[in-house]
Parts: sequence; C-alpha cells; structure tokens
Amino acid sequence: MNAEFEELYQQVILDHSKRPRNYGKLNQPTVAVDGDNPSCGDEIHLELETTSDGHINDLKFTGQGCAISQASASLMTLKLKGKSRTDAESLLEAFTDVVTAGTKEPTAALGDLQLFAGVRKFPQRVKCAMLAWRALDQALRTAHPTQNTISVGASDSSPHCTI
Ligand code: ZN
Repeated sequence: MNAEFEELYQQVILDHSKRPRNYGKLNQPTVAVDGDNPSCGDEIHLELETTSDGHINDLKFTGQGCAISQASASLMTLKLKGKSRTDAESLLEAFTDVVTAGTKEPTAALGDLQLFAGVRKFPQRVKCAMLAWRALDQALRTAHPTQNTISVGASDSSPHCTI
C-alpha cells in the first residue's frame, strides 16, 4: 500500500465513522437486519425499503463499533440508494472481492469503497468491513420481507479490534 493510498484510506474511514451518512431509521422499512461482529463488538442495524422486485428505494442504518465497520456501512448506504437488486448484488460481490481476495480489477462503481482493499492484510478487520454487507446480503435474500428483523453474526472469540 503506498503512502498516498494509506492517507486517503484513513481520511475516508475517519470521515465516515465520525459523520455516518444515512444514519437512522426508516419510517416504513420492508426488511431489517441486525448484524453483529462479536470479535470486535461491532453492531449494525440495517433497514431497507424495497419494492417487490427488490429495487432499493431507501436504506438507513444505526450501529456502533470500530471505525471500519461504521464507515463501511455509511459508504454502502450511499452507494446502494436507488439501486436495483442486480446492481446491489454485483456491488456486494465486487466489494467482497476487494476486501478478501483482490483477484479482480475493482469496478469503478465502487468509488471510495475500493479503499477498503486496505483491510485485506488484516483478516480480523475483514469481518468489520463486511459486517454491513453481510446484513445487506441477508436482506436481499429475504424473498418476502414483512418487517421481520433478521440476525446475522459470527460466533467466535477472537481478540478485539484496536481502532
Ligand atoms: Zn470492528
């Protein structure tokens, strides 16, 4: 990772963790997911308002935890607002590759989310970056959302995150 990339990565993460976008609750969510990452103490509550064919009209989140988990959620909501289910699924796939494998050339559609390639070297932090996205994945899989709250979470007891 070069110094310029590192600096931008830090800036974006700090900015979004301090001033998360789309933070709050929706008036009429069609699906809600609770995600939790016990290894770090990160929590995300994600709400989506989708049409019957999965178009994301609106989405918001609340949560707490490390800067990476909250910044990832904030950036994700910015990217996904107004997207179709297909677009959301391909962004999910592209982001997962960026933070885990890095096998593909990241799609420009990811924007600042490409910066999360910085967590690839730190397996513990991959879970932080992916938390909101695992919640999204679960929300997209919910065929007939009826305001149920779904839970996703890993059960391990790894060391806590440091930032
Ligand atoms: Zn974390």
